[in-house]
Amino acid sequence: MKLENIQTLLASVLSDEEIFIKEPMKNRTSFKVGGPADVLVMPDTPKKFSDVIGLLQKKDVPYYIMGNGTNLLVGDKGYRGVIVNTRNMKRIERDGCELIAEAGALYKDVAQAAQENSLQGLEFASGIPGSIGGAAVMNAGAYDGETKNVLKWMEVLTENNTVLRLPVEECKMGYRHSIVQENPWYVLRVCFDLEKGDPEAIQAKMDRLNQQRRDKQPLEYPSAGSTFRRPKGYYAGKLIEDAGFRGYRHGGAQVSEKHCGFVINADQATAQDIRELIAVIQNKIKKDVGVEMRTEVISIGE
Ligand SMILES: Cc1cc2nc3c(=O)[nH]c(=O)nc-3n(C[C@H](O)[C@H](O)[C@H](O)COP(=O)(O)OP(=O)(O)OC[C@H]3O[C@@H](n4cnc5c(N)ncnc54)[C@H](O)[C@@H]3O)c2cc1C
Repeated sequence: MKLENIQTLLASVLSDEEIFIKEPMKNRTSFKVGGPADVLVMPDTPKKFSDVIGLLQKKDVPYYIMGNGTNLLVGDKGYRGVIVNTRNMKRIERDGCELIAEAGALYKDVAQAAQENSLQGLEFASGIPGSIGGAAVMNAGAYDGETKNVLKWMEVLTENNTVLRLPVEECKMGYRHSIVQENPWYVLRVCFDLEKGDPEAIQAKMDRLNQQRRDKQPLEYPSAGSTFRRPKGYYAGKLIEDAGFRGYRHGGAQVSEKHCGFVINADQATAQDIRELIAVIQNKIKKDVGVEMRTEVISIGE
């Protein structure tokens, strides 16, 4: 389908402000790399989101869902098709000890809303820079906390364009995994079940964890957080350090000096620099230690 026709199609459900043509993905991802997406759309309600998906499916237009782009590496030539960005679907509501958030709400904003409502349980998430949708899909976690421990249910849009509410027991959540990864489904809303707590103690815990992050992680550089998943029985950062990669540079990409588990965009890296550096690390560790280093970061586009 031609670009103008895709634009006309999308304009039937979205306003002009929600449609971006030839959008540079380096402006939309925390790695700050990536060429243009043919089209990027930002529906501001779950209903519009499902209308957009329905239209794209009906017309066979390639598309990809993104949240805050903090776990995404987009190729230098960009993405051919439509990127559906959830960031404008960001309402957060409270119901007793529950917080219900739309997929595009940032995890840190939901954690802050919990604190403001004297609800504890989400302190671990206040430094995770992704959206709730992205976090639910991969069961994001930090500092002994995991999304699955506070999740009550998630609502997903299924392949038939129907909405399914899945209680956490049915979400198959494990290390960086959920049922959404096994199906062509998209997270629309998430409900967290929290406990009453002291707002000052909650804030103090969030401040302490965020200070630990600043001390240990190279937050001053663009990155997508931990580049690799934790291989069973090992720590990715330790394997990378032991392989001699601390500070190793490839083009503008570098293994962080501060935290070897992070590949950073040290100086105007291209997606190719980053992909090649990842491959160099994977090959060496496979050869030396026999360990498969699977990426946590998701690579899309050309
Ligand atoms: C500095 C830094 C620190 C980080 N620290 C942590 C950490 O402590 N713990 C941790 O777990 N992660 C961490 N991350 C990684 C990242 O923030 C998480 O993986 C986060 O959950 C990704 O959310 P996102 O909205 O940015 O997803 P995106 O990067 O936009 O997308 C990631 C994947 O999720 C899918 N996706 C996004 N939204 C939806 C949806 N609504 N429905 C279906 N699929 C969807 C996308 O298709 C893609 O496959 C860190 C990243 C950075 C840059």
